[in-house]
Amino acid sequence: MDLPPAPNGLSNRWNLGLHWGICSGPNCHIRNNLLKCGACRVILYCGTSHQKADQARHKSSCDIIKNASAELVQAEHDMRARPGDAYMPENPFETARGQFWFWKPTRPYMQKRFELTSALLNTRTGDAVEAALEHSLEMLHLNPGDNQSVRSQVPGLYLRLGRDQEAYDFIKWYNTIGSAAGYEWGNPESPFLNLHDENVFEGVNACNRIGIDLSHLAYLTSLKVRLLLDLQMLEKQSKKPSNRNADYDKKMEWIREDAISDVLYKRRDIVERSDWADLIADLNNQLKKLIKHVEERYKHYWPALKSPGRWAAAIPILYALGSPEEISLAFRQTRYCWAECPSALEFVKTQTST
Ligand SMILES: [Zn+2]
Ligand SMILES: [Zn+2]
Repeated sequence: MDLPPAPNGLSNRWNLGLHWGICSGPNCHIRNNLLKCGACRVILYCGTSHQKADQARHKSSCDIIKNASAELVQAEHDMRARPGDAYMPENPFETARGQFWFWKPTRPYMQKRFELTSALLNTRTGDAVEAALEHSLEMLHLNPGDNQSVRSQVPGLYLRLGRDQEAYDFIKWYNTIGSAAGYEWGNPESPFLNLHDENVFEGVNACNRIGIDLSHLAYLTSLKVRLLLDLQMLEKQSKKPSNRNADYDKKMEWIREDAISDVLYKRRDIVERSDWADLIADLNNQLKKLIKHVEERYKHYWPALKSPGRWAAAIPILYALGSPEEISLAFRQTRYCWAECPSALEFVKTQTST
């Protein structure tokens, strides 16, 4: 495959459906010397002729981003202009990091920043998803308690960018340390998102606490499916007579070519094996549990993935556990993560009973 390395230095992004590093003009495959749209900064073109050709399609999503950015700049300006008082200290970026939202005058700013992430996510490009992820992570550092449920979208953004290991570390942190009784959200010394390179193969109980929300369950399922498919790919390759006794470097070639997830890049211990049957069986079991758990608790979710049309449109108003509105919200947060990885979607479709 004659492709440059992906921005994360790994090739797995080539095996996902997110449009990135390529001209968005009609049927254009140019990847070099691209120009960014100056208004939204998240879509690329090979030149002005293809930018013009795409204008009618791109204009509305571009305007939404442009307006949301301008409103965020204004909100930040208003907040910075406030002198310190009982409602908010002066210079909150320096003095109240970690306590945004608690100080009420920071809320309009946080709302505008959230609106900008939503605006960015209407555009399905790598640049838009990366920008939305950066905003989301920064919002979590400003307000780790996360009154806006930014955490429900972050793992999906990592997954869309092929950063599965970080998605897993994030999910595990929020569902273990971050949901432990007595965790001090208001204390800047409390460890925050400090899990790295956690073992994605471990049992689902490591993350699947009672409080885990539907979006995190869906991401966890997606992550494990991707890993399972990668192991099955390794097994299939190594069973070919011509590949008998393949060494680590040879197996890494298959991973660079075909792996969906980035997890195996760091797991030499697993890639070096000659047999993955036990890991495959274990992941299959974990997935059965996860899929069944979602089915029992949120019976509309898997059917929604199978027939997405009616779930995509409505903005949920009511919010109750397992209600169609909650499913609809989680569906909108998770759907591209599935849609951009058709083999994982196919797997869950065959595994669900409804
Ligand atoms: Zn634009
Ligand atoms: Zn082009």
